Amino acid sequence: MPIHAMAAHAAKKPLEKFQYEPAPLGPHDVEIEITHCGICHSDLHLIDNDWGMSTYPLVPGHEIIGIVKAVGPEVAHLRKGMRVGVGWQRNSCQQCEFCQTGQENLCAKMGATCLGNYGGFATAIRTDSRFAFPIPDALSSENAAPLLCGGATTYSPFRLYEVRPSMKVGVIGIGGLGHLGLQWARAWGCEVTALSTTPEKEREAKGFGAHHFLNTRDAGMMKKAAGTFDFLLNTVFAPQDWGALLELLRPNGKLCVVGVPSEPITIPGFPLLLGQKSVVGSVIGSRHMIAEMLAFAARHGVKAQTETFPLDKANDALARLKANRARYRLVLTV
Ligand code: NAP
Ligand code: ZN
Repeated sequence: MPIHAMAAHAAKKPLEKFQYEPAPLGPHDVEIEITHCGICHSDLHLIDNDWGMSTYPLVPGHEIIGIVKAVGPEVAHLRKGMRVGVGWQRNSCQQCEFCQTGQENLCAKMGATCLGNYGGFATAIRTDSRFAFPIPDALSSENAAPLLCGGATTYSPFRLYEVRPSMKVGVIGIGGLGHLGLQWARAWGCEVTALSTTPEKEREAKGFGAHHFLNTRDAGMMKKAAGTFDFLLNTVFAPQDWGALLELLRPNGKLCVVGVPSEPITIPGFPLLLGQKSVVGSVIGSRHMIAEMLAFAARHGVKAQTETFPLDKANDALARLKANRARYRLVLTV
């Protein structure tokens, strides 16, 4: 049976209806009937070929939730009828040092769900079951779909960089990723600040757990906040004043980059070395981290604030995201 999808056929072009025959179900594969798929800004970067690596037709979508319809003979942990989620990563080599130490997200041979493969803006997907995660009952599919990429990407840095409850944490950019970052930071016990270019987001940012709101375009506020943060999680992709962000850190503070910068990051030397600060990166999350993140979300009530669009209105949703009008994650329903 063909899979019905929405696909871009060239960079920056609107998505159109598209169908394809899936590859045969491999021994470790699972077929998922998709019910929900979040729209990450990475989907927009891929459609527009911002990273110069897109191939067309391109079916975006890597925040997938759906129901297992079929499993390959080697699949032991999933059964028909289970509700599962799939994120950015669809497979890995399972052999390298990183796969063997539970850091599959660093595998050089990793496959991506919607880069070189057809993604989740579709009725179904066949993919490696080892990267499909059972969804806890406490999470609704609509609110949980964005956790598969946006949630994993903002949760992992807290664990990787050992953020402690006593720390002052800032989340820069209150979009799909950022509004989840605020919730993790609050549940972690930290003192939390939302750093944003959109003052109208202040009330909602506080609803997500921010104790404070800092307008990054207000030079006075930025100056006053200098030297106050232990950890900054940057989700913004637009060009930024990296020196000003480093100035916000306390000694030993870390600036963690998860938003994909559209230009090289230029860092002035003095604010970096004075105070022994670090600029670090983080990419999605390992399998272990994603499973842990889902359990943590279920326990602490972390969920995406969503607006839904039917699959065939994907272009309207993408336009809304592009205009920075998503509040806070757009989710396609199938
Ligand atoms: P999003 O929902 O569009 O949010 C991005 C936020 O950045 C916006 O809400 C806005 O927040 C801020 N922003 C937008 N334009 C800006 C500008 N011109 N100047 C300053 N701030 C601006 O996007 P997202 O889905 O959260 O994704 C964010 C980035 O993370 C993307 O680059 C995406 O590709 C990347 N990503 C990386 C990973 C990873 O593994 N590292 C995983 C997923 C996504 P304010 O209105 O609050 O300023
Ligand atoms: Zn993503």
